[in-house]
Amino acid sequence: MKESSPASHQQQRKDSVDAPRSRLARLTVNHAAIVENWRFFKQRAPSAAVSAVVKADSYGLGSVGASRALAQAGARVFFTATFGEALLVRKALGEGPQIFVLNGPSEEDAEQYAAPKLTPILNSLAQIKLWNARGPAGLHIDTGMNRLGIGPEELAQAAVALKGAALALVMSHLACASDVKSEMNAVQLRRFVDAATLFPKALRSLASTGGVLIGPDYHFDLVRPGIGLYGSGGLDADNPPLAAAATVEAPIVQVRDVEQGETFGYGATFTAPQKMRSATVAIGYADGYLRSLSGRGYGFLGGARPPILGRVSMDLIIIDVTGCAEAQPGAMVEFLGPNVRLDDLAALAGTAPYEILTTFAGTVRKTGARA
Ligand SMILES: *Cc1c(COP(=O)(O)O)cnc(C)c1O
Repeated sequence: MKESSPASHQQQRKDSVDAPRSRLARLTVNHAAIVENWRFFKQRAPSAAVSAVVKADSYGLGSVGASRALAQAGARVFFTATFGEALLVRKALGEGPQIFVLNGPSEEDAEQYAAPKLTPILNSLAQIKLWNARGPAGLHIDTGMNRLGIGPEELAQAAVALKGAALALVMSHLACASDVKSEMNAVQLRRFVDAATLFPKALRSLASTGGVLIGPDYHFDLVRPGIGLYGSGGLDADNPPLAAAATVEAPIVQVRDVEQGETFGYGATFTAPQKMRSATVAIGYADGYLRSLSGRGYGFLGGARPPILGRVSMDLIIIDVTGCAEAQPGAMVEFLGPNVRLDDLAALAGTAPYEILTTFAGTVRKTGARA
């Protein structure tokens, strides 16, 4: 790898002004990987339509690019959380694909669904009333999550209120989908099947990423993978790893030879057990590299997995590059991607892959798709 100073990195970006671009860490989205993962779900749920959940800007990876790539590959149904997100996706996709808004209509936006042909998910009796059958909608039935949806005691009332309305979909959401063995899954499945009999004409949808992997009983007419499209899941023996949709890299700014007994970083939490070579890298918690990865995370460089030494600081981390010839100033170190798996990183950070992606996305610079 050619040597380059941090200054020259800044130089290359002198035309860019927004905050993420002023940083040296960068996030690259691989749209081909997102499509590959979507096809994996098609394979796993051959009897169902496979939608794409693109809420929160496609989990931080950019809903415009992801939606376009998925639509091009044949995705016809998309889910966003908010009305505003759905507008963005409609603009990106043009007419055709169906776009559901999971949060459902509000007083402010209910009138505005028609023109861009967006479809709300109705989550309460109040939303059913507000929507007032002004167009096709989906219905969310709560089967145990107690977050959104019509509860069991309101079902009969909802069925009456929706009589004659165009119901495109009845759906529910699993609380424990990522745990195949959880008894909660079967409980929710049973409740969903029972409740859905009240709406016999509507398509049925229950499974998010985890639900698809639980098995065909959970697939119904439409499945709703989100995080799986972006590379989480499938790390057990039965499932191949999904493709990494995001790569986060940052350049080395300095390499040091350190004597035995020296300590590294804030709090001096790591002491060199012997002579070591360390590299200081331009990524920190200000870039979304979580501080909880202090002493736990690792990078990938030249086929090695250099561990983090001591604490993650705001703009910098220190890694152990002893014996790694590739460790030179300017060399890019991977911190998430094909070699540093999303689920692995989440486990090390003590959080969920969802939070890893969305935390990076707000801070590190996004670069164009790598096909
Ligand atoms: C976020 C969400 C999904 C997607 O879940 P993943 O675990 O990311 O696959 C599906 N359905 C609903 C209602 C959701 O809120």
